[in-house]
Amino acid sequence: MSNRKNKFNVVIVGSGFAGIVAANILSESNLDIVLIDENIYIGGQLLRKIPDKLSEYPVYHPDYVKKIGFKFIECLKTKKVTIINRGVVIGIYPEKKILVEVDEKEVITVNFDVILFATGARERFFPFKGWTLPGVYSTGLAQVLMKTSGVLLAEKILIGGSGLFLFAVAYETLRNRAGVTAILEQTAMLDKMKLISQLFHQFPKFVEGAKFLSKIFLSGVPVKFRRKIVEARGKESLQEVVTARVNKSGSIIPGTEKIHKTGALAVGYGFTANIELPQLAECKLDYSDAKGGWVVRVNDEMLTTREDIFAGGEITGIGGALKSINEGKTAALAILRRFDKIAEDDYFLRLKSLSRERKHHLKFGEYFNLLYKIPESTILDIPDETIVCRCEDVTMADIKKAVQADFNTPVSLKTAVRTGMGNCQGRICGPIIYDILSALTQKSPQEVGRFSVRPPVKPVSIASLLGYHDNR
Ligand SMILES: Cc1cc2nc3c(=O)[nH]c(=O)nc-3n(C[C@H](O)[C@H](O)[C@H](O)COP(=O)(O)OP(=O)(O)OC[C@H]3O[C@@H](n4cnc5c(N)ncnc54)[C@H](O)[C@@H]3O)c2cc1C
Repeated sequence: MSNRKNKFNVVIVGSGFAGIVAANILSESNLDIVLIDENIYIGGQLLRKIPDKLSEYPVYHPDYVKKIGFKFIECLKTKKVTIINRGVVIGIYPEKKILVEVDEKEVITVNFDVILFATGARERFFPFKGWTLPGVYSTGLAQVLMKTSGVLLAEKILIGGSGLFLFAVAYETLRNRAGVTAILEQTAMLDKMKLISQLFHQFPKFVEGAKFLSKIFLSGVPVKFRRKIVEARGKESLQEVVTARVNKSGSIIPGTEKIHKTGALAVGYGFTANIELPQLAECKLDYSDAKGGWVVRVNDEMLTTREDIFAGGEITGIGGALKSINEGKTAALAILRRFDKIAEDDYFLRLKSLSRERKHHLKFGEYFNLLYKIPESTILDIPDETIVCRCEDVTMADIKKAVQADFNTPVSLKTAVRTGMGNCQGRICGPIIYDILSALTQKSPQEVGRFSVRPPVKPVSIASLLGYHDNR
């Protein structure tokens, strides 16, 4: 039997900004709190602790926001919070209980009074011919390798896709003394006037952006807008990438194709919220282009539609670290109030100021989420032979054929062609399949729906299941 403690007042799933901020605030009370994260270190996607023993790489210069994050982590070390690293939450049950795979060795149950989902976001992908070729990586992977292992993808990389994150990865690559052939952004250049009004309330982001751009321009890296990745080519691994200019609606302008010789391409298309656990718990979800797709529905206090489940951070809408900090604070205060640990006057005063600030973060997120939304014509232009579900080798043609035969929802498509049945369980192909179905059927994303979820929401080993302990 596992002798781990198995009952807590508050369970926090996810130790990114939202999770660590909430844990810090909640630890000021005498509540029993556990913070669970699948990663080796706490800190989530943005912080990702760098192993101490790395020699020269990665050159790491935390900016203002990251410094705040590292302070929260240091602070947490002195607090009474149980931390479970390498703990993957794979299920949640109505009797206020979650299932956690720990250390890839055992599966335990943890009981809670209240749970806060702060599971963040993952990368969004977009298929093109040859995207499964070795040598084609995601921008997130490029960053994770640099940050946690001091590994570069190659001496020189090509970066493409869409979104601000392309610039962050280019910056970090250059800081680590590798080269960037070019940054190819498929969306048009930002409307600077609209951007300035957004940045007014996001000063740290403004400083960070200026730092990225100056490094990129001073290094002579070409930045091309409205240039899309069309195809990755190579015999056994990547040798060249075909790109083309696109018009306002995202369609390729014939004759603008260009070939880039490269052995490493990093692509990214923004982020999508990790909603699977709240979906399993039957919390209501909303689809919003302004929030970056499917998100968990919350009220001003970060309470979901279930009275024992709160959610905060990217999971309620893609909006960046400052929004996650704000929502982590808000959720923690609402949880303190639930347990009568905060005076009502104090609570409402702080909630008012946090809600006001949150509106600006939501506006900031909305601006970029709408700017980088992939247009319908780009989705319909995916060539028939392109693999869309890479776990099960399902092509665009397979999907079109299935839709013609009335398999036109994610769930029915799964039964017809196995999309989302592989190891990723739809985490990679899901968002693009929803977009494809919406474009092909001309139905709204709400009408199209999502893949269903059931435990385990992430892959778990048989060995862990054999080590299952139901700690009632
Ligand atoms: C790959 C990637 C790289 C990014 N890099 C940057 C960057 O350089 N700069 C920037 O400004 N923003 C970056 N972002 C955006 C960043 O996530 C947000 O700005 C912010 O940090 C989000 O904080 P959060 O607390 O909402 O979530 P996150 O920081 O995403 O933290 C969520 C945590 O929950 C964990 N988790 C999820 N599901 C489970 C589960 N079932 N069981 C246990 N743990 C789980 C995740 O592993 C993660 O550690 C990145 C996002 C991604 C996906």
